[in-house]
Amino acid sequence: MPFLEDLQALKDQASAELEPLASAEAMESWRVKYLGTKGAVKAFMQRLKEVPPADKPAAGKVANDVKNALQAAFDAKAATLSSGPVRRSGPLIDVTLPGRKPHLGHAHIITQTINEIGEIFARMGFTFVQGPEVEDERHNFVALNIPPSHPARDPLENFFIDDLTMLRSQTSTVQIRVMEGQKPPVRIITAGRVYRPDTVDATHMFMFHQLECLYVDEYVTMVDLRTCIDQFCKAYFGPDVVTRFQPSFFPFTEPSGEIAYSCPFCHGAGCLVCKQSGWIELGGCGMVDPNVLEAVGYDSEKYTGYAFGLGIERMVMRKHRIPDLRLLFENDVRFLHQF
Ligand SMILES: [Zn+2]
Repeated sequence: MPFLEDLQALKDQASAELEPLASAEAMESWRVKYLGTKGAVKAFMQRLKEVPPADKPAAGKVANDVKNALQAAFDAKAATLSSGPVRRSGPLIDVTLPGRKPHLGHAHIITQTINEIGEIFARMGFTFVQGPEVEDERHNFVALNIPPSHPARDPLENFFIDDLTMLRSQTSTVQIRVMEGQKPPVRIITAGRVYRPDTVDATHMFMFHQLECLYVDEYVTMVDLRTCIDQFCKAYFGPDVVTRFQPSFFPFTEPSGEIAYSCPFCHGAGCLVCKQSGWIELGGCGMVDPNVLEAVGYDSEKYTGYAFGLGIERMVMRKHRIPDLRLLFENDVRFLHQF
């Protein structure tokens, strides 16, 4: 069969030419000539058409074997050359190609929100401070006037590391740390991660972010608290937003309140975001309990103060209409890119 004879001739010729080669350049020329995508072996495969159909499988196998044998001979030869595997000649980098733009990331939407809120409070004279996430019971509960019988101190509601050490369950711990280290006036804002063993679902996570504000000085009153929150809501949500206070209870403030602001999406008419109520909850607030001031050595007859806290995730989810809290922490870049 002429096909097989010609194939053998091609193999003999290629082997004979490969034998004396001694340089990487020559090896590469040989490889292009015989084994390249436009090489002789590939071109020879076209001639399979001439072979009678009955002999085609056998002829195809022989052709493949020849190709593999030549490749193996080439690899073996290349390995014996002192330069090792055959490399292309010339510089490794083509400096004439256009460059690739490095991919730049950006701050996470939670961080962006904390920075944005921090900036508003900075304009009102608050200093941003941070505290440890691993806390002791004194800073997380005792100094905050939370008695041992309080349900928030249940070991099942907290991540305890040992009997006295835990992951903080609130950022109010930072209030205590700041007041312990400085005399009034104190005007601080803090934000960061807090931990509670909640079952993960669309609105709960074992970790979330809180933001907390504290102002202690002489003659600080409820009016200052209301003004501060009102100014913040107008700056962050829009100048038309109004705030609402409802009585509540927290161990570390007296009196205490829940803050709500008018829905900026429907302007009070009722929509999905505000669950048709026209109001959106922001967080808790109140005048610092005298027991808390005394616990850090302040004279509660002379000094008064206010504090409030809010959940960052809740604000982010409402502002950007994010339906599931877990999306924020799955680190899917396609999701995070949007913000
Ligand atoms: Zn609404």
